[in-house]
Amino acid sequence: MSDIKKRLVIIGGGFAGLSVAKKIDKSQWEVTIVDRHNYHSFPPLFYQVASSELEPSGITFPLRREMRARKVKGCRYRMGTVASIDTASRRVITEFEEIPYDKVIIAAGATNNFFGIDGLPDRVYTLKSVPEAIRCRNAILERLERAALLPQCDERRALLTFVVVGGGPTGVEIAGALGEMKRYIIRRDYPAIDREEVKVVLCEGTDRLLRTMSENSSKAALKDLGQLMVDVNLGKTMKSYDGRLITFADGTTINSATLIWTAGITGEPIALTGTEVKAGPGGRFIVDEYNRVTGLDDVFAIGDISCHADERFPRGCPQLAQPAIQQGRTLAENLNRRASEQWRPFSYKDKGSMATIGRNRAVVDMGKLHFSGWAAWMMWMFIHLISLLGMRNRAVVLLNWIWSYFSFSTSLRMILKTAEQPHKKAY
Ligand SMILES: Cc1cc2nc3c(=O)[nH]c(=O)nc-3n(C[C@H](O)[C@H](O)[C@H](O)COP(=O)(O)OP(=O)(O)OC[C@H]3O[C@@H](n4cnc5c(N)ncnc54)[C@H](O)[C@@H]3O)c2cc1C
Repeated sequence: MSDIKKRLVIIGGGFAGLSVAKKIDKSQWEVTIVDRHNYHSFPPLFYQVASSELEPSGITFPLRREMRARKVKGCRYRMGTVASIDTASRRVITEFEEIPYDKVIIAAGATNNFFGIDGLPDRVYTLKSVPEAIRCRNAILERLERAALLPQCDERRALLTFVVVGGGPTGVEIAGALGEMKRYIIRRDYPAIDREEVKVVLCEGTDRLLRTMSENSSKAALKDLGQLMVDVNLGKTMKSYDGRLITFADGTTINSATLIWTAGITGEPIALTGTEVKAGPGGRFIVDEYNRVTGLDDVFAIGDISCHADERFPRGCPQLAQPAIQQGRTLAENLNRRASEQWRPFSYKDKGSMATIGRNRAVVDMGKLHFSGWAAWMMWMFIHLISLLGMRNRAVVLLNWIWSYFSFSTSLRMILKTAEQPHKKAY
């Protein structure tokens, strides 16, 4: 074998990118991971940051520290936001540099889709990254603080009305967490606010919650949210939001100062130059069974930003952690093979899906098995805990969960914002 290593650039240090980094043969490949954040994050628990249940540091892990871990050792990290890949000169282009590659893997995940609704990105709160979750947490706490200073009036009612749009797992989880806040926290922390004044509304455009899960799970989630005093509206499609008034397709309106948008997802925008190939529907790159972007030999896409369709999933694998991890592993194994060896096609092994609605409440689908309640909640906690990166993070998250289970509270409800002064240009 030649001593000269081939250059592999991985865009994104999320589930998919890191699973390649763990399996790839570092004696064959010089691996560079480019990520706009200098940390790996754990999206399934973003909603707990937004609802002040966990600290951001518990669900993030420094990428440079991970580069020292046994399985990843030998990979390099470079900070940067990739805007494009020049397929002609084989370079990945960030705001800071151009990184040459022999093969590149796009593993940049997905971001919010606002479906072109006017002004939405500036007016709603979202949960697709740690900074977005912190912003959402600050907004929720600010609304409560401001409402506590006001007499009964429309402004106070709008501040105390929290609307979640989108009844998928993230929407259900954040609505459940807000319901718990209303039930357990408001009376103790905000004596000036009556619990009944706080409204948590979840709006879903289709006729059921958790559409990607079983009917049983949808029904259990609906019941659990009802017990947490969340007002669930099914078949309710949002048309516009001016920052105060939400208007729905059926002509009804809700006055709310806080809209949490969990209704849409699209691939992170990364342009390909030097080729006609572009991202397909949903901003996802269409890939073949080896995760090669169709029409390009040296460009691969894995995880949420890829669309790998087969008979079972004609519209692509679900945008979940497991497909991202499995695609990363299979691709790394294929890239490690000798030139004469046959590549193994990717096939997704569905290990099930789950969502939590609050303490002692969760739903789990595993093949034909569906269960909910305490056992599902225990399983949800266990799976999420072992999936976190870093022993310290697991210990911190577990401690937080135990603490809040017994105390019905956490001590994390601080509004923490970055200082706006002095102004200094970022490097
Ligand atoms: C709120 C929320 C809750 C979820 N809950 C669950 C759940 O319970 N179970 C489940 O299985 N899945 C869940 N998912 C989905 C799961 O998180 C994704 O399917 C998974 O993270 C996809 O992995 P990925 O590596 O493709 O993307 P990600 O894990 O998102 O990683 C992408 C990485 O790329 C980086 N990046 C993005 N754009 C650029 C760029 N232009 N340049 C450089 N770096 C870039 C990002 O910083 C990030 O580190 C949830 C997602 C969200 C947002």
